[in-house]
Amino acid sequence: MPEGDAVYRAAARLRDALDGRALTRSDFRVPKHATADLTGRAVLTTLSRGKHLLTRVEGDLTVHTHLRMDGSWQVMPAGRRTAPGDQVRLILANEQWQAVGVRLGMVDLIRTGAEERVVGHLGPDLLGPDWDPDEAVRRLRAAPGRTIGEALLDQRNLAGIGTIYRAETLFLRGVWPWRQVGEIDDLNGLVSLAKRLLEANKGHAGTVTTGDRRPANQTWVYGRAGRPCRRCGTRISRGEMGAQPQERLILWCADCQPR
Ligand SMILES: [Zn+2]
Repeated sequence: MPEGDAVYRAAARLRDALDGRALTRSDFRVPKHATADLTGRAVLTTLSRGKHLLTRVEGDLTVHTHLRMDGSWQVMPAGRRTAPGDQVRLILANEQWQAVGVRLGMVDLIRTGAEERVVGHLGPDLLGPDWDPDEAVRRLRAAPGRTIGEALLDQRNLAGIGTIYRAETLFLRGVWPWRQVGEIDDLNGLVSLAKRLLEANKGHAGTVTTGDRRPANQTWVYGRAGRPCRRCGTRISRGEMGAQPQERLILWCADCQPR
């Protein structure tokens, strides 16, 4: 699942291809906006807010997209055919480039002035200009009985963490994922570490938290269920957190992250 760093990179790709250029084609393949046509309008810019993408278009319009589970934005030369079988949800094209939104979890067209309605609930964005660790900690502390694992995924507390960064951050801080938020002394250190991990990965594909980019060595616990912990040798545990049907994968080392 794309996390904040992948969405940040998608926004950069969209800016490079679309900013300042007039659209020569728009193709919304979602029922709600099937008749929308942005042809002739210039794209102003694309912003990432947590895991949301906001592509602003002339005339107070914003294309709001979300990658959800496995969506992506692909940029390719205008006119190139997309791969057969790709579940294209949206195409935005100018004379030179086309941005193709594949398997996007959400496509909406809203007034730019109404963006707050769709992203206003988000906590500070780990990769955004508004990042504010104190505010993120304040929001986390507002529900002290919650598990830290669930609280870190709640984008209303802080925006950009998914299951990979959750698992890696908690491992590096030695925190058991089910520990209650109120029992953790240094929440500021925890969210600041998450921020550093996302920052370190925002410029390239893939998630490297160990500092070692070789494919088998990139993470401490994520993707390593049953394999020995890189620190202590204990087999990495795998489970699920959260209430059904929203439960999400968690990996941890029972020895490095004791109860
Ligand atoms: Zn360990």
